Amino acid sequence: MNKNVTIVGAGLVGSLLSIYLAKKGYKINIYERRADMRKGNLIAGRSINLALSDRGWKGLEGVGIADEIKKIAIPMYGRFLHNRDGSTGYQPYGKDQQAIYSVSRAEINMKLMDLAEQQDNVKIYFDKRCANINRQNLTAEFEDNTTKEITSTQSDLLFGADGAFAASRLNMQLQSDRFEYNQHYIDCGYKELIIPPGENGKFLMEKNALHIWPRGSFMMIALPNPDGNFTCTLFLPFEGEKSFGKLKTEADVKQFFEEEFPDAVPLMPTLIQDFFHNPTASLVTVKCFPWTFDERIALIGDAAHAIVPFYGQGMNCGFEDCVVLNDLIEKHNQNWPEILKEYEALRKPDGDAIADLAIANFVEMRDKTADPVFLLQKKIEARFSNKYPDKWIPLYSMVTYSPHIRYSTALKNGIRQQAIMDKVMARPDIEKIWDSEEVENEILSQL
Ligand SMILES: Cc1cc2nc3c(=O)[nH]c(=O)nc-3n(C[C@H](O)[C@H](O)[C@H](O)COP(=O)(O)OP(=O)(O)OC[C@H]3O[C@@H](n4cnc5c(N)ncnc54)[C@H](O)[C@@H]3O)c2cc1C
Repeated sequence: MNKNVTIVGAGLVGSLLSIYLAKKGYKINIYERRADMRKGNLIAGRSINLALSDRGWKGLEGVGIADEIKKIAIPMYGRFLHNRDGSTGYQPYGKDQQAIYSVSRAEINMKLMDLAEQQDNVKIYFDKRCANINRQNLTAEFEDNTTKEITSTQSDLLFGADGAFAASRLNMQLQSDRFEYNQHYIDCGYKELIIPPGENGKFLMEKNALHIWPRGSFMMIALPNPDGNFTCTLFLPFEGEKSFGKLKTEADVKQFFEEEFPDAVPLMPTLIQDFFHNPTASLVTVKCFPWTFDERIALIGDAAHAIVPFYGQGMNCGFEDCVVLNDLIEKHNQNWPEILKEYEALRKPDGDAIADLAIANFVEMRDKTADPVFLLQKKIEARFSNKYPDKWIPLYSMVTYSPHIRYSTALKNGIRQQAIMDKVMARPDIEKIWDSEEVENEILSQL
């Protein structure tokens, strides 16, 4: 076996996938549209931080690189709430010091590229944009950004790992009958801002937490970086009363931030410059089907399932795609028609599920994290789950800390659990009896 594999895109998923395949003895050529970001080609204002959680770690552990990535990751043990009136609060994410980890997307991408290139049989070509894929003879064409020269490459397998706006996916769509495609933009965009470190690289807010300023129809979050700064992301509607559309002048921005995020403003000395310099980006969900073609082409990562970032799962889900694929390579003894058939059958429902969960969590994060009824429900669930861990795992924990539970199962269980909690929370005296045996028995009786 000396199968040649083409991967389109050296992003997070394409790079990790190449390591998995290299360890199985495949020969991999990755073609990446961008210049090599390790040579200083980072795009300013687009260096968002990602939350890496158990599904992602499992993907990294599977090829023995989790320890390398831990070096650039900061554990966040809970949400640190910043209210409009200046008061603060803290909600642990899970129990026993369960954490999600803050990593810079650029840093982890560069590290994954390094680790991929350490494999003898992986080669990454930069500045090569996928222009065309010919399904008949599995030839892909890549245009060089500078010379406009076309490189043509033929392989035995091809993976489209070129992200939410994948050229590979579009190529398949144009060459397929009955290709299902659904793209949905939410009404909110996002903008990256920064809270720099204090003197001597000091963190100016709690380091080991995801900071959140929930404001109903919008929110700001901040994730820590190893050098002491926080990458903030403002999620705000494009239009309406409180919106990007209304923030036209420096005075508009200053007034908006002073009213909405008063405790953050003194920590953001470059707020105005950052706001007007950094782009406002949109957020899209993409669902499509099929994910595999001709028993030798597959979409993976965001190319197959782009989701909004509110569950912090896009990358984690893409890394899980790699784990599933790797397990199937072993299960089917490298029989690719069988591998790809089962990969698609298993992952499509999970991709759809996490896409729906991510949309639902948008409402939870911006709207409910400061709502006392919601917080009481979380307290009841946590108490019940501590006592009956085999009967109840809160939805957030299923998604974030339970890689053995499929996303589609988590979604199903979550809907069932919410229906039970709706009844419990409807009790008029719930605030007084929330930790009583009566409430416990009511939940037990409905399970
Ligand atoms: C604001 C925001 C916050 C997020 N937060 C989180 C989070 O907390 N946790 C989490 O798990 N996920 C998060 N995500 C999602 C995460 O960033 C993505 O799911 C992840 O980057 C997907 O990896 P990928 O490799 O599939 O795609 P990408 O990382 O987009 O990589 C695709 C690669 O393909 C290349 N490419 C594109 N077109 C071509 C072409 N025509 N030819 C060749 N190469 C091409 C691109 O240059 C890129 O390098 C967030 C996303 C956003 C936007």
